[in-house]
Amino acid sequence: MKYILENPVAGTIGLVKYQCTLQWRNGKIIADEPPSSGGGDQGPDPHSLLASAVASCALITMRMYIDRKGWNIPQLQVNVNMYQEKVNEKLTTIIDRDIVFDEGVPEDQKLKLQEIANLCPISKILENDIKLRTFIFKTGETKTIKYANDEITVLWKPAFCQHSTRCWKQLPQVFNPSIQKWIDPNGAPAERVAEQVKRCPSGALTFLYPSDQPGKPVQPV
Ligand code: SF4
Repeated sequence: MKYILENPVAGTIGLVKYQCTLQWRNGKIIADEPPSSGGGDQGPDPHSLLASAVASCALITMRMYIDRKGWNIPQLQVNVNMYQEKVNEKLTTIIDRDIVFDEGVPEDQKLKLQEIANLCPISKILENDIKLRTFIFKTGETKTIKYANDEITVLWKPAFCQHSTRCWKQLPQVFNPSIQKWIDPNGAPAERVAEQVKRCPSGALTFLYPSDQPGKPVQPV
């Protein structure tokens, strides 16, 4: 299992209503709510961000295709909006994506680009099954099992595990839930084991290096 993003988008919110700072690979953007929802409108609201993903992914995918074909289409516009319908208690969100071409684009190229827009990566995400999972990081005392070698001690708190599958799908040489002694710190270099432990979203995994104070696990970041 490999995440699509090398680093997760990291969002934070403080006391300023409802300004969120979203750290992405190469910078930061602000998200907010409009004044009608009590925000300061300092950035796009979450629905606008979702619409932006739908618009930009189609635009990029179409541009790549146009350039590959050598077509003369210097500019394209995409407008995205959405609404929701409830039929028999089932809520469906309809996202409309309108492609606007400048004068002179041949009809066959427009039709092909409509098809290409529907094949963009974000369309594939939204039109297939999606599972949204939310984890919390727990701290505190609970039964802890240690798995150690000379370079690293991995600490495992079974009661905290939220079964994200992240550890064993990303580093199966070390984490193997199908056997009883399921963590083998010898399966990868200590730095790689530590890096994986830091990705545990629940606090079930922490680690110690030999130089660390006993009983004071280094908290994942
Ligand atoms: S990464 Fe953490 S929460 Fe996820 S399965 Fe492994 S121990 Fe459990």
